[in-house]
Amino acid sequence: MLGENVKKLGFGFMRLPHIGEETDLEQVKKMVDLFMSKGFTYFDTAYVYDGGKSEEALRDALVKRYPRESFTVATKLPLWNTGTTFEDFRKLTDTSLERLGVDYVDFYLIHNINDNKYEEYNVWEYMKGLKAEGKAKHIGFSFHGTPELLEKVLSEHDEAEFVQLQINYNDWENPDIASRRCYEIARAHGKPVVIMEPVKGGALATLSDEVAAPFRALDPKASNASFAIRYAASLDGIIAVLSGMSTLAQVEDNVAYMDDFKKLSEEERRAVAAVVENLQKVRTIGCTSCKYCVEGCPMQINIPRVISAMNVKLKYNNLPDAKRQLGFATRDGGKPSDCIACQACEGVCPQHLPISKIMAEAAETLE
Ligand code: SF4
Ligand code: SF4
Repeated sequence: MLGENVKKLGFGFMRLPHIGEETDLEQVKKMVDLFMSKGFTYFDTAYVYDGGKSEEALRDALVKRYPRESFTVATKLPLWNTGTTFEDFRKLTDTSLERLGVDYVDFYLIHNINDNKYEEYNVWEYMKGLKAEGKAKHIGFSFHGTPELLEKVLSEHDEAEFVQLQINYNDWENPDIASRRCYEIARAHGKPVVIMEPVKGGALATLSDEVAAPFRALDPKASNASFAIRYAASLDGIIAVLSGMSTLAQVEDNVAYMDDFKKLSEEERRAVAAVVENLQKVRTIGCTSCKYCVEGCPMQINIPRVISAMNVKLKYNNLPDAKRQLGFATRDGGKPSDCIACQACEGVCPQHLPISKIMAEAAETLE
């Protein structure tokens, strides 16, 4: 299987340390050195991460400093507002290769399939061409869509060699993310999986003491992140579990328990289940994502996604991740601060949520 006999921790280059606007390259080099010194080899970036600075950091901290065959690089082809023809895609690929300083990538992914664009633009044909040319050793895709769409993509495109999925213990049964269903579909098609967001963008690292009590009772020294990453890495058929590491301390923590990786014990699984239960008890805004409110909003605010970002703050006490979620929520529509308090949404909300007040709070807390 692809990724067999490879250490399962992957270094995600999406949240690198910065000094001002620039990547803190000296710190990234130390992080890479520690990671490599322990025999880990998988690095993940994307054309769009940090406006291209992530790919460049990978070149400067890794590619220029280590033999090419000692590591594997994954990067991704974006399909949003970046062109529709093979010529357009080729420019994106060439830019990635140039920024990375490599002649080929080991894993090349269509970035975030969640609609039909990949079919419209015939992207899989393009990807197959790259593989035939040797520019990409293995081709796959990252995925944020529904289980039904995943089933469709995998049924129609056997050329996809692997799939990158959002999997973490708290979203395993979450109907919006559907980690379990997506994982099972990938496995049923015999595709190995790269796991992203095992710590839910850092949210499962910052649990309150009360929520994380079952972890502390079991092992006072083990970090919250260690349970989350080991949970993901305990699944079968995994190429790598990506951790978007931002500090040397995070690399130290991750490599310590992934160096001599052990699957979660039954006792540890029970602790994870208890933490999931504790998380369910934390009071959040009771939006069911029914979307009844969305169409009538004159400011095109994606109300359920804004509320979901607010819930990240309430539940995990994780402001950076909540802000990141708000960024996704407002990418194609209005911001919470655009709300004019017309209350059109409140008239149709079956949960009778005070949406205009929530938008004001979201503007103050997250913008
Ligand atoms: S109250 Fe705000 S969020 Fe609700 S419909 Fe009006 S503008 Fe949109
Ligand atoms: S109508 Fe209410 S419950 Fe439904 S998505 Fe909008 S805010 Fe959430």
